[in-house]
Amino acid sequence: MGIINENIREVQEKIRQSALKANRDPAGVSIVAVTKTVPVEKIEEAIASGLNILGENRVQELMDKYSALKGVEWHLIGHLQSNKVKYIVDKVSLIHSLDRFSLADEINTRMSACGRAMDVLIQVNVAEEDTKFGMKSAETAEFVDAVSRLPGLKVRGLMTIGPFVSDAEKIRPVFRKLRLLAEEIKTIGFPGVEMKHLSMGMSNDYMVAVEEGATLVRIGSSIFGQRN
Ligand SMILES: *Cc1c(COP(=O)(O)O)cnc(C)c1O
Repeated sequence: MGIINENIREVQEKIRQSALKANRDPAGVSIVAVTKTVPVEKIEEAIASGLNILGENRVQELMDKYSALKGVEWHLIGHLQSNKVKYIVDKVSLIHSLDRFSLADEINTRMSACGRAMDVLIQVNVAEEDTKFGMKSAETAEFVDAVSRLPGLKVRGLMTIGPFVSDAEKIRPVFRKLRLLAEEIKTIGFPGVEMKHLSMGMSNDYMVAVEEGATLVRIGSSIFGQRN
């Protein structure tokens, strides 16, 4: 086994330590292996090392890799254009990046047509950065309420992308706010809505995210190496 296997073992060990530090069960954290720009052969190594959830943020790349890789679960983690929904509804098990009602509406139309429902996470722009997609925290509960009325979607939690800074400690308040927001929404108790997932943490900040309650960490470069 090569470097990818070693990288995965290291990430798993750090997740374990961070979980224990926060009195959490490490089994409550899953790795979403982020495969953007990564060739299929390398992804196969990650699958051979035991990872079975893959995340892509571009629809075209997801479709190319989808047919080449079997026995894995795919998540769409990046900004999704409404006109691309039709290509992925039969391929992904979770969309992390629901960030507007028009997208929810399109997913609902496509899923209702086949009598199914898509699991989704609401993307929250916790730090309210202009460069990022996502709902404002203050608008999230109302948005969850609206989405919960669509039969073709099941809200399963929240997702955020931390600010791009080198000191992961600076991102901790953002992750904490996402957790508190999820707890708030859970307390309101919208029918059919579950707050079982917090998708937060990437290569630079997943340890802090796990300490703050992440259930899904989206990791690319710490597994596959730096992207060009
Ligand atoms: C690229 C990407 C990641 C992974 O980034 P790394 O820093 O390589 O771990 C996670 N989430 C999203 C939404 C991404 O686009």
